[in-house]
Amino acid sequence: MKKQFAVIGLGRFGGSVCKELYEMGHEVLAIDLNEDKVNDFTRFSTHAVVANATDESTLLSLGIRNFEHVIVAIGDNIQASILCTLLLKELQVKQVWVKAQNQYHHKVVEKIGADRIIHPEHDMGVRIAHYLASEKIIDYIELSPEFSIVELMATQKVSYQTIADLDIRAKYGCTILGLKRGEDVIISPTPDQLIFEKDIIILIGSNNDIKRYQEEGL
Ligand code: ATP
Ligand code: ATP
Ligand code: CA
Repeated sequence: MKKQFAVIGLGRFGGSVCKELYEMGHEVLAIDLNEDKVNDFTRFSTHAVVANATDESTLLSLGIRNFEHVIVAIGDNIQASILCTLLLKELQVKQVWVKAQNQYHHKVVEKIGADRIIHPEHDMGVRIAHYLASEKIIDYIELSPEFSIVELMATQKVSYQTIADLDIRAKYGCTILGLKRGEDVIISPTPDQLIFEKDIIILIGSNNDIKRYQEEGL
């Protein structure tokens, strides 16, 4: 389904979000103070406009209230980011996601109602650390500080065994959500599903349990 998004701030982060959403076929309004940035994004957005997103009447005239999802990707100017977030929540935009520069910025936008706060450098750093630390981890999504979803590469050790043989949930407290085998994806596999070397196992669990499975089970 096509969705409507507005991206405010077209730096590296906001720019990537904008371009990707647009290429996924969504409607994207791109907003930046900087005219050169806006010109760069006319090709990668439905509408690209030069505007100051800390000005309420400007936001109103852009019809920002009609957008269900707005991403505030103003980085260095924390004051502008906070004010913009406040205005968007006052205008009752349902989903306001904010790129935070630091923990103080995070706290303030959380208090004024940001629906999701993103720390791209931190989050990417955490993910990269997980890839680096384990050859078996293909991808990693943090659900909370305690729980994650990971993609693990099946080793020869588990090849030709079923999920029940491996008894993963009972032994490690983790659940296999799916398997990727080349182009095929097997969702919610049954216990009699065979696993082969190089299958990608999509696993959900606590970080401790995942670590244990990875070190002892795989
Ligand atoms: P990134 O860290 O994502 O690479 P950046 O460091 O290149 O971003 P930032 O300074 O974080 O750039 O700002 C992102 C964009 O936000 C800039 O292009 C800037 O022009 C824009 N911006 C700043 N203030 C406003 C504002 N009040 N209204 C609209 N856009 C703004
Ligand atoms: P459970 O109550 O844990 O589902 P069960 O006695 O009902 O176990 P089965 O559903 O037949 O038994 O599965 C046998 C074992 O295979 C389970 O105990 C569990 O360890 C493991 N298992 C089954 N499905 C999964 C899964 N999706 N992810 C991880 N382990 C699984
Ligand atoms: Ca920056």
